[in-house]
Amino acid sequence: MSSRATPTGEFSYRTRASYLDRFQQQTFDLVIIGGGITGAGIARDAAMRGLSVALLEKSDFAAGTSSKSSKMIHGGLRYLKSRQIRLVRESLREREVLLKIAPHLVHPFPYILPVYKGNPDGRLRLKVGLVAYDLLAGSRRVGRHKMLSTNELLQAEPTLRRDGLQAGFRYFDCLVDDARLTLITIRSAAQHGAAIVSYAEVTDLERDQERVTGVRFRDRLDGRTGTIGGRVVVNATGPWTDEVRAKGGVAHMLRPTKGIHLTLPRSSLPLSAIVAFFGLDHRLMFAVPLGDCTYVGTTDTDYTASPDQARADAADVDYLLGSVNATFEGAHLSPSDVISTWTGVRPLVFEEGSPSDVSRDYKIRIDPPGLATIVGGKLTTYRAMAEDLLGRVLAQDGERFGWSATPCRTAESPLPGGDLDEFERFAEATTSALEEEWGLPRPAAERLVRTYGTEYAKVLEYALPDRQLLQPLVTGGSVLGVEAIYTAAEEMALTLEDFMARRTDLMLFDYDHGLSAASEAARLMGTVLGWDSQQRQQQVERYREAVAAMTEFRRRR
Ligand SMILES: Cc1cc2nc3c(=O)[nH]c(=O)nc-3n(C[C@H](O)[C@H](O)[C@H](O)COP(=O)(O)OP(=O)(O)OC[C@H]3O[C@@H](n4cnc5c(N)ncnc54)[C@H](O)[C@@H]3O)c2cc1C
Repeated sequence: MSSRATPTGEFSYRTRASYLDRFQQQTFDLVIIGGGITGAGIARDAAMRGLSVALLEKSDFAAGTSSKSSKMIHGGLRYLKSRQIRLVRESLREREVLLKIAPHLVHPFPYILPVYKGNPDGRLRLKVGLVAYDLLAGSRRVGRHKMLSTNELLQAEPTLRRDGLQAGFRYFDCLVDDARLTLITIRSAAQHGAAIVSYAEVTDLERDQERVTGVRFRDRLDGRTGTIGGRVVVNATGPWTDEVRAKGGVAHMLRPTKGIHLTLPRSSLPLSAIVAFFGLDHRLMFAVPLGDCTYVGTTDTDYTASPDQARADAADVDYLLGSVNATFEGAHLSPSDVISTWTGVRPLVFEEGSPSDVSRDYKIRIDPPGLATIVGGKLTTYRAMAEDLLGRVLAQDGERFGWSATPCRTAESPLPGGDLDEFERFAEATTSALEEEWGLPRPAAERLVRTYGTEYAKVLEYALPDRQLLQPLVTGGSVLGVEAIYTAAEEMALTLEDFMARRTDLMLFDYDHGLSAASEAARLMGTVLGWDSQQRQQQVERYREAVAAMTEFRRRR
């Protein structure tokens, strides 16, 4: 690969090579399998406590469930119904923490909850729930709920169906870019010394009699194999958890369920707030306006096939569209309106009952000795889950390995780009400065600040030699050419899909999935990664295939 000079903060194929070298040379305190939000959170916490950490991810960071969520940092209003008070309280506390440590990525949004005649939960019950929600939040940051009359509701969201509308509520929760939250957590772990490699699959566990003592892995980029010694191995593989546990000869823990979302043009479902509504089967779902799109989700059905094969099928799409058409006046949406879909597999802890009622709480098990497994939970609670897991690992093995019990610092330490107190004021001032001084269109300037936070200047540094890089990649869009270079150099984007799907949201939210800019993005990434024309072409082809797989439901009707 090329040796193009890059500014500071490198996290790229070159650092990847040095991490792979470290894998051969050192026994790590912790070897973490899985680079979703759960593994990322554990890596960061452990590295900040001074433990030596290796993390292996078989695909790109967040390529599993952690880029397929509803993108909400929330208490989970509906869990109050099943009396999961502890989970809601913990989630609301973590919402507060994330607003503090990642204010550039976690943003409060108003939610509208209409109440129709025949709703599974009536007005009174929802009121009681929302009062409890506010009390459990105990925070003034995101605002308290308010009851709305039908007139007020329709003023706020004129597209709501009028027939049977009785009243409603406005309340507040947060949205996040899930893939980027995972990525900055990973980068923070690397900044604290963790050796972190994507496209490295753990193929087996190393044992010394009963105890797990490391992992075997295969580098999926060049096919090479190796082993890494670990005092404790952490299984943070989300829906793949039982595959790893099977290698350790221990019982399964999961009851996976599939959840899909679909993206529609904003003009076909024009909302100003997030609308929480009951779907055709009386489950709570959400319609979320974001940029030029509105996304809708989610389904929740038992899923037993491989998480690698999870896709939206025609029945999933019909169910979501049917629920939308029944709730919004004049919405006659059909599959041809759907821009994109995304499908996640929830790694829920095994429990009997209907899929939607299965607890979103998490479970930690240390079995066999040396293998700690963590499953379940939510994106929102990942930090607290990591703190809990490390507390247990330190309690169990700290003395044996002479680890001193350093306290957890992740709740106070900002994530990369989040080191400021007054984000909105910073965002406003910086956006204006970028418009005036760099000539950026406002949407691009705003996106830059809200994506990279205080790191926006590092991105711009890559455009100093060539101001053309400040042009949007897609005509009229807000993702800049320079980002293809920056993410390859400093955010370990190793394939075109990494860039399109998880460093930016072009794959999901551009009407053409960014395909019009695919060749140019591959060319720019290639200047860092040393791709020749054939490799660039291959990247574009693979990306086309990924887009085709995402929209497969159209052909399967
Ligand atoms: C539809 C849906 C909506 C959701 N919405 C929300 C929400 O709005 N808010 C919220 O808080 N939570 C939400 N969640 C829950 C949340 O997304 C998950 O709890 C969380 O992302 C799980 O993260 P994870 O790291 O445990 O799993 P994953 O993100 O799946 O990470 C596991 C990783 O392990 C890797 N891996 C697997 N096997 C191996 C191996 N052998 N070697 C190396 N790597 C391996 C995988 O490639 C994967 O990247 C939602 C979940 C779903 C499915």
